[in-house]
Amino acid sequence: MELDKMLQYQKTDIVVYKLEREYQQSKERELLMRCKKAFEDKKSTLIGLSKELDNTLATITKLSETIDELVKSGSEWNGFDANAVATEEELAKIEKDFADYEAKVAELSKELTKAVKKEDEIAYENKRLHEEMEVLNNDFRHLTGLLKKKEADMLEKAKPHVKILKTLAPDIDKKLFEKYQELRKGRKMPAIVPYNEGCCGGCGMDISIEVGKKLVNAYDVAECTHCGRIVYKPKPKIE
Ligand SMILES: [Zn+2]
Repeated sequence: MELDKMLQYQKTDIVVYKLEREYQQSKERELLMRCKKAFEDKKSTLIGLSKELDNTLATITKLSETIDELVKSGSEWNGFDANAVATEEELAKIEKDFADYEAKVAELSKELTKAVKKEDEIAYENKRLHEEMEVLNNDFRHLTGLLKKKEADMLEKAKPHVKILKTLAPDIDKKLFEKYQELRKGRKMPAIVPYNEGCCGGCGMDISIEVGKKLVNAYDVAECTHCGRIVYKPKPKIE
């Protein structure tokens, strides 16, 4: 029977599957993934920071220009002679204009100081992020090396089993085999399970109403309507 070969295949493949899972769930791999994620997070922070820096630099340029212009236009007060002004009202107005002008320059200078301080902060943060990324990069390289070794070990351990699988595969029904691989990919292992007293041997649900009629003789197969595994009618036990 073809199912015999399939079940034999599955039995050996479970050993390989477990080795693969052990590797995938290894601490080194988890650390590597975490390291990668932290690096990506910092990278996106860095991109945001770079935009912020551009904006701040633009603000500084604009403020500097505005202040320069104001200072230039303020030169008209140089050598101002109060005696030359005709009336008290005129003098009061000029004094007020000058006070406004000074206030404006002071306000813009304050804004400029703030922007320059921000630029410094961004530069500092930028440097810090780069240093942290450098550390993560080194960790990443180290972990990648460890993991490569672990993967090689895993493949070495799996080798004899994989060899057996290769000899079994050609005798298995293609459709059944494809379905099996699909279930394996979906981590539904074992993928081919016995039908026990109306229940799926994988998920344990009662599927007697849905598939009971299809599972009459030993090795009849059907698909579990709940988990999608392949259920088969087991061979009667020989006493
Ligand atoms: Zn099931």
